Amino acid sequence: MCLEVERAVLDERMSSLVAGPSLVESYLEHIRNTCLVGTDGDLADYIPELARVDPTKFGLSLALHDGYVYSIADADIGFTIQSVSKPLTYALALTHKGFDQVDDRIGVEPSGEAFNEISVDSKRRPRNPMINAGAILSASMLLEVEPDVDLAFAELLEFYSACAGRQLALDSEVYESEMRSGARNRAIAYMLQSFGVLHASVEASIDLYFRQCSLVVTTDDLAVIGGTLANGGVNPRTGRRAVGQAVVQRVLSVMTTCGMYDGAGDWVTTVGLPAKSGVGGGIMAVLPGQLGIGVYSPLLDEHGNSVRGVAACKRLSADLGLHMFNVARESRVTVRSFHTAAELDIDTDRTDAERRYLRGKRDRIRIFELQGDLTFSGTESVLRRLRATAKEFEVAILDMTRVDHVDQVSRSMFVGASRNLKGVQRSAVIVDPDGVVVRRSAHRTEPGPGIEFVVTTMAEAVARAEDFLLKLAVEGS
Ligand code: GLU
Repeated sequence: MCLEVERAVLDERMSSLVAGPSLVESYLEHIRNTCLVGTDGDLADYIPELARVDPTKFGLSLALHDGYVYSIADADIGFTIQSVSKPLTYALALTHKGFDQVDDRIGVEPSGEAFNEISVDSKRRPRNPMINAGAILSASMLLEVEPDVDLAFAELLEFYSACAGRQLALDSEVYESEMRSGARNRAIAYMLQSFGVLHASVEASIDLYFRQCSLVVTTDDLAVIGGTLANGGVNPRTGRRAVGQAVVQRVLSVMTTCGMYDGAGDWVTTVGLPAKSGVGGGIMAVLPGQLGIGVYSPLLDEHGNSVRGVAACKRLSADLGLHMFNVARESRVTVRSFHTAAELDIDTDRTDAERRYLRGKRDRIRIFELQGDLTFSGTESVLRRLRATAKEFEVAILDMTRVDHVDQVSRSMFVGASRNLKGVQRSAVIVDPDGVVVRRSAHRTEPGPGIEFVVTTMAEAVARAEDFLLKLAVEGS
């Protein structure tokens, strides 16, 4: 291949590396393809609006701690939030009424029963805020503070929108349909009133509850709401606090034990993420400190959970090591600093001609100093930075001296990144004195494109990076 053609091919590959699907996006697409197999599950059919949605739709979004959102497939399709609203209204009730008053009337124990079971504990409290009895009571508590349903709803909507980072809206057809067919929920509310725990008007409580269930969201919204909870209550997109830290801790605890209807135990052991599902087909899951997930597919299992949504969460958790008890000492890897080799005072052993050539080239060597444990989300943010700046360097030096642990997912992600860098004639050198990334025996020594897991000191890394620049110069001449 002549040089010009080669250059053009490289340029094209570089554009697709920078602008095309990232490693994470390709992986999410792969999950979609595996989860779309089969037609198990049924659409919710208690109201016509849910029974006529397209069963083939599937959306998946991941919101990272810095507000970056990966979304694939039908991530822009709106659907009603339904029971995924329950943790949010519970959060609002805790904020307005305080923990003691709420705990007096709503328990925090899993019920092991279906979501719409008329289920209370020995003190006649709903067992938890994730079943309908507890959720209707949470909504009624907002009416104790603001008895006008329209005003209470306006405040609820503002709160949900702050968590999602955009203005949400009501699906009035779903809302009206829910209101027409809500006999069971009304029965639950009257039962709670007869027990003396529901203090607001029954009809207003049901009205507010159905309005919250009828809000339209996308998987991006669910991921960002999850990201807000993952971030201790600060929306990762807007940077604004939407929920207090103590309330978030409580809400995540209850989502962990009671969030997935009566399938909660299986969920905690296999997926290990606080989550909430809704009969609209949405699931929101949270990895505290790291990320929020939103999935949508409207076919439901016998518990009322999205069949493909559950499958996608299981795959994500297993493949990316997202179980909340996958313990890493520092969940977020930070790129401590980011500079070029021109800013370092490192002298390498070169001939005069090489020295002259390299003088103007050292700023094409980028150094990323990392710290913390490398799990999925930390590695993702490092690789996103590499990809975004790929045009600015020929060689990246990843200084892992302060990294203590690298999990298997991160290793595979580095292998994928290595392949991508190789494709665009870029190289990366990892400074890994303690062999945390790759066993010493597997170190490569030849300077070549891709990642070289090779060196123990920064001086060695710079020499190795310069070797690569010189090799490119020779090949290009
Ligand atoms: N609007 C539904 C109901 O209360 C929500 C059910 C759900 O998503 O679990 O019947």
